[in-house]
Amino acid sequence: MPQVPLPVHDTPKAFQDACEKARRDGHSVGFVPTMGALHAGHLALVAEARRRCSFVAVSIFVNPTQFGPGEDLSRYPRTFERDLDGCARAGAACVFAPDATSMYPPDECTRVRVDRLTDSLCGPVRPGHFEGVATIVAKLFALAGPCVAVFGRKDFQQLRVIERMARDLFFPVEVVGLPTVREPDGLAMSSRNAYLSADDRRQAAQIPLALSQAVRAFQAGERSVARLARPVRERLARISSSIDYVQVADPLTLVPWADDESAGERALLAIAARVGPARLIDNVVLGEDPAPCLEEEA
Ligand code: AMP
Repeated sequence: MPQVPLPVHDTPKAFQDACEKARRDGHSVGFVPTMGALHAGHLALVAEARRRCSFVAVSIFVNPTQFGPGEDLSRYPRTFERDLDGCARAGAACVFAPDATSMYPPDECTRVRVDRLTDSLCGPVRPGHFEGVATIVAKLFALAGPCVAVFGRKDFQQLRVIERMARDLFFPVEVVGLPTVREPDGLAMSSRNAYLSADDRRQAAQIPLALSQAVRAFQAGERSVARLARPVRERLARISSSIDYVQVADPLTLVPWADDESAGERALLAIAARVGPARLIDNVVLGEDPAPCLEEEA
């Protein structure tokens, strides 16, 4: 079926007007913020937004303020034409693709900081990252107006930060988190998987295997944080040039449990590790999520 080209708004005002008009026309607005290089994980968010709302907007913006010095801002993959096609097929009604100056004019000087939830996991290793995320999402929520905003649980800490920010700042936005979409071997889909060589990609398959091992141990009754986390650390150490963290944390507060503590009935197991040139993150909520891989490797 031929696709009608999606309207693409490139100024904040045009995007805000489009969302306001949609509501005036009787639509409910769904919103999916992304940095582009869209894959099936992103498109699942768009499809869910479309199930919940009659007008779905997708933003595509590589947000400079969430990248630290030396991170991958300049080489972040950009596949705009293909992204538009994916958005249209997944049921989006419009795309917002602003340039950096319209979101951050030279005289802007406002940042949004979410405390506590950013003290652990990626917070300390990526200083300023969540401030950049909270700031851009606050700007986007202000433009989208009352809506259902759909995020992925792949970025579990980001989801918690945004939920908190939306509540604390009284945004009229319902924040929804969806399960991680994975490749057939269990690797979490990520725009950054494009950085992996064939060999890196084979190594990266150890990540979902390691998480699955922990899920099975937890299901078998293991609650010792050390015994849950240590096999994951050992497995990642074999494939990663540097591990930022392997942590078991409270899924609500994100406060990590120490190795000599016991995990609760639900526990976030989160990892961040470099494989080849890519920094990959992944997580499972033990006691809730299924194992990312069905079978242990042969
Ligand atoms: P990004 O473009 O990486 O900033 O991600 C945009 C949104 O897509 C965020 O809410 C992510 O959590 C979500 N996302 C990214 N990868 C996945 C995935 N594999 N499964 C589900 N959601 C994802």
